[in-house]
Amino acid sequence: MKSFDNLTSTGQNNRAKKIAKSISAIFDQTTAKSCHLDDNPSLKSIKFDIRDNSFHLSVNEENVEEIKHKARAAVQACDKGQVTREGYRTLASISQDLPREWKVSAEKKEITCEMNKIIPISLVNITPQSDNSVNSEIHINDAEIIDNLQQSIGKGGRRDIVNILKYLIPGLLERKVLDITNPTIHLRISGDGRNVGRKVKQVMITCSILNDIDNIYRPENYYTIILYPGIEKYETLNIVLEPLITELRKLKEEGFRDNQNIEWKVELYFSSDWKFLAICLGLNAANSKYFCPWCEVSKEQQGDFSYEWTINKTMDQIREDYTFYRGHTRPAIFDMIPLQNWVPDELHIMLRITDVLWRLVLDELRSRNTWGDRARNVIVEEMKRIDVKFHFWLEVGSTNWQYTSLMGQDKLIVLQHFDLTKLFPNSRATQIRNLWDNFYLLHKAMKDLKTDAKQFSDDACAWLRQFLDSNYFYQASDITPYMYVLVYHIPEMMRIHCHFGLAAFSCSAVEKKNHQQVSHFFKKTTKDGGVGKGRKSAIVDILEYENRVLYFTNNNEIDLIQLPKRLRVK
Ligand SMILES: [Zn+2]
Repeated sequence: MKSFDNLTSTGQNNRAKKIAKSISAIFDQTTAKSCHLDDNPSLKSIKFDIRDNSFHLSVNEENVEEIKHKARAAVQACDKGQVTREGYRTLASISQDLPREWKVSAEKKEITCEMNKIIPISLVNITPQSDNSVNSEIHINDAEIIDNLQQSIGKGGRRDIVNILKYLIPGLLERKVLDITNPTIHLRISGDGRNVGRKVKQVMITCSILNDIDNIYRPENYYTIILYPGIEKYETLNIVLEPLITELRKLKEEGFRDNQNIEWKVELYFSSDWKFLAICLGLNAANSKYFCPWCEVSKEQQGDFSYEWTINKTMDQIREDYTFYRGHTRPAIFDMIPLQNWVPDELHIMLRITDVLWRLVLDELRSRNTWGDRARNVIVEEMKRIDVKFHFWLEVGSTNWQYTSLMGQDKLIVLQHFDLTKLFPNSRATQIRNLWDNFYLLHKAMKDLKTDAKQFSDDACAWLRQFLDSNYFYQASDITPYMYVLVYHIPEMMRIHCHFGLAAFSCSAVEKKNHQQVSHFFKKTTKDGGVGKGRKSAIVDILEYENRVLYFTNNNEIDLIQLPKRLRVK
């Protein structure tokens, strides 16, 4: 007999097959004796080494269904972990156990096609508008992403809400999130603009189902209905949102009928940051005289405790004649959503008020003439201690010190842990610390479903008094619209929406979703297939990806995978 090394490649394969066939025969004989007739044992593969050659032989017919499900599970895993095609190919090249990359790609394409029929993606043309505004805060500052996003300007994408709801309803009924005896869907519409570099934004409008309250904090439960790179501006939004507006009006008036012929009613809600909300309401900017979306307060009255401000505008009135209320300069875009369902977002209340509290500390240092290299070093050191990235710099040709704008979670850390005694005399440091602590507690209470609205109202009022009473450093003119809303409208909103709680209207998950998607899909190196013009638009990629996420919501392929038991015999 020839040794293995002296065989041709075909000869080697034939010998391996011969061995495998013998083993297969022995397997059949043995199992015939050791297994019950109904047990249905089946040998699937055989692995062995001969010299330096490794063999993996599949035995019997291949199970087409099983291969398909495994490949689909791989698509789900890649989508979930945002593994690129190239990344998966490399992984598959080191393991026989993973489905082949071409098979995974084919399944991905098939799922995408299936889903695009159920939830079609339409493209919207957007005439690029000139806009001189500059993003005050930059959320994403990666040159490659900025460049790719800029190249995508002019095209937006959208999906119909009804198609998404119809697809999700069976699963929601099964999980008892929805109830046929009370067929109402509480649908929250949210908008978010991520600032990508200085000039552009990725604008995302989502819908989410408030009935699914336990999962409302998860980004994947926000379904993108409109997506476009461009600017956040009334004129643009009014055009891009037109089909959505038509759909929302119809949903509100008629509801819709699902695939099982159940008639659903839809109750609409809206939440976003102030800028987006004001644009959609046709209202002036937050710094104008009549700034409040809900009532007719004016800038001068916001620190006046003799008024009890409550929602006194109505959407019916705005729809009939928006000029009726001062500050409204255009018709409201979402004029089918009642004003008490325009819910302020806890995240931005926390972010913006913390910004003010922090800015006031720096202003006070300046006015106390303790502003200098020493103070700046102390701040930088203290930030280092509490693990927050922060630095100062002088802008070219200016004597004004600029400083890092704090990131979301960092703001909460500064609010709780920054040691103010390092900057101020003890008594003053205690005063500010107290003000900060109380704001932190208010923010926590705002998100807590168990908070009593009356108690919150009292605490918020007390906090604003404390703010104004802190040694005359802070004045009524320092009160911002967000502070005013915290004190006057949040308690009212808490009462109105006590069933869901204000945390259910937080924009934190939408921001996270938008951020993740921009970072992933506009990064050239991680994109699959084609370059230049042949490449599919990132907007379509994102919406197709979201369609697949919906598919996997209803068909969790990963959960269905059962790994074989791994045992060892010697
Ligand atoms: Zn108001």
